[in-house]
Amino acid sequence: MAPETLGRVVGCLLAGAVGDALGAPVEFRSIDEIRQRCGPAGVTTMLPPGHFTDDTQMTLFTAEALIRAGMELEATGSCNPVHLLHRSYLRWLLTQGHEVGALWPDGDPQAATGGGLISEALLHRVEAPGMTCLSALRSGVAGTMSEPINDSKGCGGVMRAAPAGLLVPGAELGAAPAEAYHLGCEVGAVTHGHPFGFHPAGLLAALVHLIAAGASPIEAYGEVRTLAPADLHEITDAAVELGAAGPPSPEAIERELGGGWVGEEALAIALACSVAAPDMSTGLLASVNHSGDTDSTGSICGNLLGAHLGAEAIDREWVAGLDGAVLVRAVGMDVAQWVIERPPADVPDERFERLFRLYGA
Ligand SMILES: [Mg+2]
Repeated sequence: MAPETLGRVVGCLLAGAVGDALGAPVEFRSIDEIRQRCGPAGVTTMLPPGHFTDDTQMTLFTAEALIRAGMELEATGSCNPVHLLHRSYLRWLLTQGHEVGALWPDGDPQAATGGGLISEALLHRVEAPGMTCLSALRSGVAGTMSEPINDSKGCGGVMRAAPAGLLVPGAELGAAPAEAYHLGCEVGAVTHGHPFGFHPAGLLAALVHLIAAGASPIEAYGEVRTLAPADLHEITDAAVELGAAGPPSPEAIERELGGGWVGEEALAIALACSVAAPDMSTGLLASVNHSGDTDSTGSICGNLLGAHLGAEAIDREWVAGLDGAVLVRAVGMDVAQWVIERPPADVPDERFERLFRLYGA
């Protein structure tokens, strides 16, 4: 494997999980409360218990679905990512203690317990899952851009979309930003029907697609900006401008970009904290110290900075304090193997047997 690509792909997922867990203890708190609790600089390190939340859980299930999509494409010449994403998110719904049997698209609820990720006990923790994701999935219907499932623009669509930048079926990393954008939108639209529920997911996927292939965040933004509708540019342009001199203060984030509870704000905050971050830690800490949805903004910022700087750039103590780091790294390695080597699914050789067993069900 190309070492830089390996590090960037793993880094995208692992730094996302680190940002999620850094921000989780202070989600729902104002910056004043964060400072009271953690000191004047706010969150400066990984706080126990170091749990990542639904953002990372669903990101991993997105990766699972899209590895399957790639396998399906290689084996049959076509694939249906929306169907596979919906199935993976129903598996996630099962991990959250909800019945999915009657919702299973092809009438085989047993199949919902197959596959690799659902057997991971760590992914069954209930860590403040988003209400829109739960209610949309419990409807049994997969939303699409043309048939929106609701009018939600919560950030639950964008927070899980990074793998759509890494795993565009049939495309080389960095070669298909428009396809990554479309796939990211499909990821978001499964549960979030407002345009700002899914277009930020498309933009995140397109950014990750180019950044993981070596573009800087600012170069990537310049290249993919026009894939997004013009009314999204207002806040993403403001974010890039705000972050141009380095990650912004908590007050500037709140004043200029909001709290990140909705898709466009969550992406904007993550962008502002990553476009000119001098290093991974400075960017991640800025993304979790504000009065808002800090686990989601931390998670998305981690996706961007991890794709840019690689897994090696993550603070080792934070990784050591992340409960589940081994699992996230392992999924990241699987994604990287698929991205870099792209084994043809109809000719499994022993090197890929494990991947087919885990993701090919
Ligand atoms: Mg969360």
